[in-house]
Amino acid sequence: MISQRPVFVTEPHLPPLQEFIPYLEKIWASKRLTNGGPFHEQLENELAAYLGVRHLSLFANGTLALVTALQALRIGGEVITTPYTFAATAHSLLWNNIKPVFVDIDPDTCNLDPERIEEAITPATTAILPVHCYGLPCDVDRIQQIADVYGLKVIYDAAHAFGVKKDGASILNHGDLAVLSFHATKVLNTFEGGAIVCPDAKIKQRIDYLKNFGFANEVTVVAPGINGKMNEVCAAMGLLQLKHIDRALEIRTAIHRRYQEAFKDIPTLRMQQVPANLEWNHAYCPLFVHPDHPVGRDELYALLKSHQIHARRYFYPLVSSFPMYRGLASAAAEHLPNAHALAERVICLPIYPTLQTEDQERLIGIILQTAR
Ligand SMILES: *Cc1c(COP(=O)(O)O)cnc(C)c1O
Repeated sequence: MISQRPVFVTEPHLPPLQEFIPYLEKIWASKRLTNGGPFHEQLENELAAYLGVRHLSLFANGTLALVTALQALRIGGEVITTPYTFAATAHSLLWNNIKPVFVDIDPDTCNLDPERIEEAITPATTAILPVHCYGLPCDVDRIQQIADVYGLKVIYDAAHAFGVKKDGASILNHGDLAVLSFHATKVLNTFEGGAIVCPDAKIKQRIDYLKNFGFANEVTVVAPGINGKMNEVCAAMGLLQLKHIDRALEIRTAIHRRYQEAFKDIPTLRMQQVPANLEWNHAYCPLFVHPDHPVGRDELYALLKSHQIHARRYFYPLVSSFPMYRGLASAAAEHLPNAHALAERVICLPIYPTLQTEDQERLIGIILQTAR
């Protein structure tokens, strides 16, 4: 067999290196490396304007942003969340001594099923931590209604939802706070990075204290804060990425459309429906392999791998199956049938701006052969 170049589920988006050099020269000249330097401030402003949000506080990564968002609102006790996500969502609760309560997902959206939230609420419940999975929005109106009735806070893990708009408005403005990730694998990367989207300047101020050890000024420490600050090199990368993001999103859309076209007539291969009022970021390209498909999901995964195509099973295994969560009553498989079914079916296909059309055609061909 001819050796093929390997294709991964994603590849970090890197603007031309020569465009980055002038930023580095400025950092070298100013010797401002971190602690809220000029690029940090500029990126907070430019991101807020680009995303259509009021305030935003940058972080060294999305996980520290999640941990800090929970601290900022003094969340404790129990928090309702989804098992169908990346480890960091639930881990941020354990890092705050909060008990995660897993609720099943809606099989069409892969997001927390709002109809299952109320039955999970107890006197210890303080908040809901949903995820806009794959960048597709949760039922934000229904979740807010429930939160209002029961007096709960809502923090969205919006790590996948950079730039997503519903009816022309940013999805990031929903909830009390929303958390972004700018990890290398995400739609917009700053090498590593993250942010908390805040509705007002007061909560942003508190978050800014918390990400800097709790320092309110030189001599006053108001909380046992953490070091969550984004440095100037990462902030500069974010500014450069913003110049290229619209083009990157366009290419993602085109790649997704080619997959959709290729698999549309195969009933055992399902892709997600994207509502017409949604500006999605095509952060991921999940394909759901029905049990009636002639080749099983894991067989398909292995087949692609044998052709040097490294698809990923996001999210398998479920977070609720990890050793630190599986003892929880809410982690029992019978409470989470939809999450388990999807975790057994999903395979995320490569999608990133530099994916070559010939590589995409090759992998589409391999998948189509399994449908016979
Ligand atoms: C990537 C991711 C995070 C964590 O972000 P980091 O920046 O890698 O710390 C959190 N939640 C979800 C759903 C993610 O995909």
